[in-house]
Amino acid sequence: MINIAIDGPAGAGKSSIAKLVAREMGIVYVDTGAMYRAMALACLDAGIDLDDESKVSTTIESVSIEIQYEGGTQHVILGGNDVSTTIREERVGKGASSIARYTAVRERLVALQRDLAAKQDVIMDGRDIGTVVLPNASLKIFLTASSRVRAKRRYLELQEKGEDCDLDAIEKDIIARDEQDMNREVSPLKQAEDAVLVDTSDMTIEEVVAKIRSLADGD
Ligand code: C5P
Repeated sequence: MINIAIDGPAGAGKSSIAKLVAREMGIVYVDTGAMYRAMALACLDAGIDLDDESKVSTTIESVSIEIQYEGGTQHVILGGNDVSTTIREERVGKGASSIARYTAVRERLVALQRDLAAKQDVIMDGRDIGTVVLPNASLKIFLTASSRVRAKRRYLELQEKGEDCDLDAIEKDIIARDEQDMNREVSPLKQAEDAVLVDTSDMTIEEVVAKIRSLADGD
């Protein structure tokens, strides 16, 4: 069974790279951030305070979440509705980082993620994949880039969509999200001891994909 774990901070390029590697290797790309985002959306829709751990825990208990794959694309079904587009909103990303602090949320999603990896060959990205979800993964990558480079990539993405944005504000948000993810008590973002560090600041997507494929081939 192939299990590849990719962890790293927001905007390091994890999902674009994991998608391409998955396509080339003919394996499934599992996006775990999308699951935290879906749980955050359920809480936002319920109108509860995301800083209230007990309310968040009871809310997510009663929500159904299902993951489906269609032509290599992951779909997240929340309470019967496909929320794959809505969860990309900025407010949902911020909310995900808030609710990802809680044990009840993490336990539920880690179980779901382990089930997916036990059933099929996967490349899975997130924050705790190499450290907690798949400690025995065949390959672990810690993907990073400077906060400025990550902010610039996000800026270009938003500009392409025609959205008005400010580079400094984006970088500030990225740094705040990193802090929250690295400093939480439960499963903080950190590099697993046996993970290979790949800094993508000065690399193209193609170069990163080639590097991961050669590591996967055991080079
Ligand atoms: O990667 P993405 O931006 O979609 O993740 C949203 C948030 O979900 C992250 O900022 C992080 O707080 C949380 N997350 C997590 N563990 C994962 C994946 C995501 O805590 N495995």
